[in-house]
Amino acid sequence: MIYKRDFYINGHWVAPSQPNDFEVINPSTEEPCAVISLGAEADTNAAVTAAKAALPGWMETPVETRIALVEKLVDLYAARSEDLAQAMSLEMGAPIDLARSAQAGAGIYHLKNFIRAAKAFEFERPLGDHAPNDRIIHEAVGVAALITPWNWPMNQITLKVGAAAIAGCTMVLKPSEQSPLNAMIFADMMDEAGFPPGVFNLVNGDGVGVGSQLSGHRDVDMVSFTGSTRAGTAISKNAAETLKKVHLELGGKGANVVFEDADEKAVKRGVLHMMQNTGQSCNAPSRMLVQRPIYDKAVETATEVAKMVKVGPAAEEGRHIGPVVNEVQWTKIQDLIQKGIDEGARLVAGGTGRPEGLNKGYYVRPTVFADANNQMTIAREEIFGPVLTMIPFDTEEEAIEIANDTPYGLTNYVQTQDGARANRMARVLRSGMVEMNGQSRSAGSPFGGMKQSGNGREGGIFGLEDFLEVKAVGGWAAE
Ligand code: NAD
Repeated sequence: MIYKRDFYINGHWVAPSQPNDFEVINPSTEEPCAVISLGAEADTNAAVTAAKAALPGWMETPVETRIALVEKLVDLYAARSEDLAQAMSLEMGAPIDLARSAQAGAGIYHLKNFIRAAKAFEFERPLGDHAPNDRIIHEAVGVAALITPWNWPMNQITLKVGAAAIAGCTMVLKPSEQSPLNAMIFADMMDEAGFPPGVFNLVNGDGVGVGSQLSGHRDVDMVSFTGSTRAGTAISKNAAETLKKVHLELGGKGANVVFEDADEKAVKRGVLHMMQNTGQSCNAPSRMLVQRPIYDKAVETATEVAKMVKVGPAAEEGRHIGPVVNEVQWTKIQDLIQKGIDEGARLVAGGTGRPEGLNKGYYVRPTVFADANNQMTIAREEIFGPVLTMIPFDTEEEAIEIANDTPYGLTNYVQTQDGARANRMARVLRSGMVEMNGQSRSAGSPFGGMKQSGNGREGGIFGLEDFLEVKAVGGWAAE
């Protein structure tokens, strides 16, 4: 059992103000694997006070120095990448190979992209040739509360901490209480990198406790949140009283539009993408819309592929998928699968219950529903498990209508060999991101959504800008 009860505040690991133990459960075994503390208001206040005190000095620190510290962080991160992977695999159930490659790997990727973006960014610049005495200054928003989920923990933490640190913000991180161990390893790295005391603080806690205390705090200037739309709404309401800036990265219900001229691997690729990380990705292509002439064949392929997806413990090496994160999620997914059956979608792979041979652990059967329509619950709600919903369509117009008929707008996907059609689709799909023919977005590309998927953009220059205020100065003197 791992005991990690302390919080990282003002450059030190400190004991919580009052004991409030919380067991972290290993989803592969359903057994506790660690004990942490959930913070109280006094802990939140101590962390915010430290961040506020550190802010003027950090904002005045030259950006080159801030970048250099993040460069040091990258080296430390690389050295402890295996520890991060092991922690994530243990606490949130990512199979160890995925934890090493994508889960831990994402952190270095994002930090390096921020470094590159920041080196090319003009933090101060003239307004334009027409206004030689006007200056635009980009400066830190201030004290930032960073609230992160468990599904891609290090991905989210680095997207927020890397940007905030370079922008000159000081911060309080509240990682998900479901996956706190990787965050505490990361805090050790921030310490070792030599960030000044108070620049980075970590307090563990739950949403109603530390999460709400941060979003309502008078001395917090900004909340950067990734998680459910439910919590995003609660945070926005709580933050309204102090009118702080609220940056939201929320859920999704992405459409993957497969046209009849799609490449032959499109369906398989779509199913495997859906299953990755056991379906626990906000940008998962969870609704596969297939054009009628290839629909039956696509259902057949999707069934075969889903039946071949192996499920197993997170600690085992290999290309299987792991459990889902906890009992609440497991039960929610079971209920949604049952709803799909009850509402008349055709179950062609998987279903309720655990996969054969796995009697303990939060394992879900890789599931595919065919013949669904877009009004069914499985087409509307984010399931956050390995469950794909297939819907047929006839025309491009119909596909667009179905794809956009959702409260979400994070990532949509298009599969066609007709470039003009692909580009047309990219323009009309109402989502923050569109990916075509299996091509993901490049380094520094902004990640974020429209509608109920949120309002922020993370990564690269766009992510930096979210932590910066734009200050306009008139009468700037020549220097
Ligand atoms: P969650 O919203 O329950 O929790 C996320 C974080 O918010 C946790 O740290 C939690 O403690 C905290 N929290 C919960 N309620 C809160 C409140 N009222 N005030 C302040 N903080 C609160 O979500 P989850 O179950 O941890 O993660 C899954 C969800 O996150 C999914 O809906 C998924 O789509 C979404 N997500 C979105 C993105 C994105 O970038 N768009 C990325 C990852 C996950």
